[in-house]
Amino acid sequence: MDSFALTDATLVTPRKIRSSATLVIEGGRVAGFGRGAARAAQVGPGSFVYPALINVHDHLRGNYLPRVGPKGDAFYINWSPWDNDLKSSKTYEERANISVEQMYHLGAYKNLFSGVATTNDHFPHEFNEPFIDHLPIRVIREYCLAHECSSFDLKWGDGIEIEHRRAVERNWPFITHLEEGFDPESQDGVGILERAMCLTEHDLLIHCIGFSDEDIHKVKKADASVAWCPASNFFMFNVTCKIRKILRAGVNVALGTDSTHTGSVNLLAEMKFARNVYRDLYGEELPAKTLFDMVTTNPARAFRMGDRLGALETGYTADVAVFRAKADDPYESLALAEPEDLELLLIAGRPVFGDEARYGELFGPLVAQGGFSSIRVADRPCFVKGDPAALYRGIRKAVGFTKQLDYLPFEPGEGRT
Ligand SMILES: [Zn+2]
Repeated sequence: MDSFALTDATLVTPRKIRSSATLVIEGGRVAGFGRGAARAAQVGPGSFVYPALINVHDHLRGNYLPRVGPKGDAFYINWSPWDNDLKSSKTYEERANISVEQMYHLGAYKNLFSGVATTNDHFPHEFNEPFIDHLPIRVIREYCLAHECSSFDLKWGDGIEIEHRRAVERNWPFITHLEEGFDPESQDGVGILERAMCLTEHDLLIHCIGFSDEDIHKVKKADASVAWCPASNFFMFNVTCKIRKILRAGVNVALGTDSTHTGSVNLLAEMKFARNVYRDLYGEELPAKTLFDMVTTNPARAFRMGDRLGALETGYTADVAVFRAKADDPYESLALAEPEDLELLLIAGRPVFGDEARYGELFGPLVAQGGFSSIRVADRPCFVKGDPAALYRGIRKAVGFTKQLDYLPFEPGEGRT
C-alpha cells in the first residue's frame, strides 16, 4: 500500500493550517495536498491532522512506575543521589523482574500511545542497538552523546571532545544532560563545553536548570538546543530552568518526558505540566503554538532532522498523528489531548496505531498481513503494531500482580489460551 490519502482534513503543517484539505502520502513521504489517491480515508471536521510528535528526551529502559524521588522536603543537589535512591528503591527491585527487551517495548509504547513517532533513547548505542529495529516507533540512531559534562558522570561514549567531533563530522546531534544540579561543577556545564571547544549548534543540552543569564546568552550565540523536562526537574529539584528567559533569548527549545522514573507518564502529560508550570511561575500563558513547536519542529531541528521530520510538507517523511478535536484551535486542542484522543499514528506512511471504525477499511488489508494486534482504548477497538497486550500480561506475570502502568491506555484481557 504505497499510495493513499487522508481527505476532508484540517492539516496543521504547521507552516499553515489547511482546511478541508487532502494529504497525499506516497512511498512513505508526503506527496502533496491537492489531488486524491486511489485509496483514502475521510478524516472529517471532528479531528485534526498533525505531524507526529517527537519526544526529544527519554531513557527507554527506565519507563517503570511509580516514580522514585527525594524524601520529604529535601530535594536533590544533582542527579547523583537520585541514582543511589533509584537503585535501592522498591520500583527498581520490581523492575528487575522484567527483561531489558520488555522495558524497551514499554518505553516505545509509552511514546506511541501519546502520538510520538520519534524519540532518542539517551543511552550509549551499545545499550539500545539490539532493540531499536524491533520497536514500534522510530528511535534515532544518529546521535553522539555524553551522560553529562562533569567529573562524576557515567562516562558514556568516548568522551566529550571525541563524541562532539564525531557529531560535527556526521551532522548529528551531540546529546548530553547539562547543569542538572546546583553543585559548583554542575553549574559550570556551559563553561566545561566552552573550554573544550564543544559548545556549538550540534549540542542538545538536557535540563539546564543551573543556567545563569550568561549561560543562556552563550547557548543562544552557539545556536545549541535545549531539552526542557519540567516534570522531571520539579520532581527531583523543585525547580526547572529559566524557561521564559531561554525562550525570550530565542533558543531552540524542545520538550522531553525523561523516563517515568522521574518525569511525566507521556509527552501529552508533559505538555500539560509545562503549561501549568509556566502559568504558575510567570502568571502568563505559554502559547499553545509554542508548546506545539516544542514537540514537532523544534526537536526535529535539535536532532538535525528538520529537513525531513516534524512537519507535513511535501517530501517530508509521512509521520502523521490524528487526534480528536477538543477545541476549535488545533494547537489548543493538542494541548488538551489525552491518549484516548489519538485516532491514527503513521510512521513513514505506515500505520502503527489506528481506530478501527475510522481507519480499519483503509489499512485493514495491511493490518491483516500480520504484525498487528487489537486492543480497546476508551472502548474503541483499535489496531496497534506489535502486541502490547501480551507485553502487559507478561509484565504482570513477571512481577506477580496486576501492575498498572498509566501510559498503557487499555486493559490487556486474558489473552489467547
Ligand atoms: Zn535524562
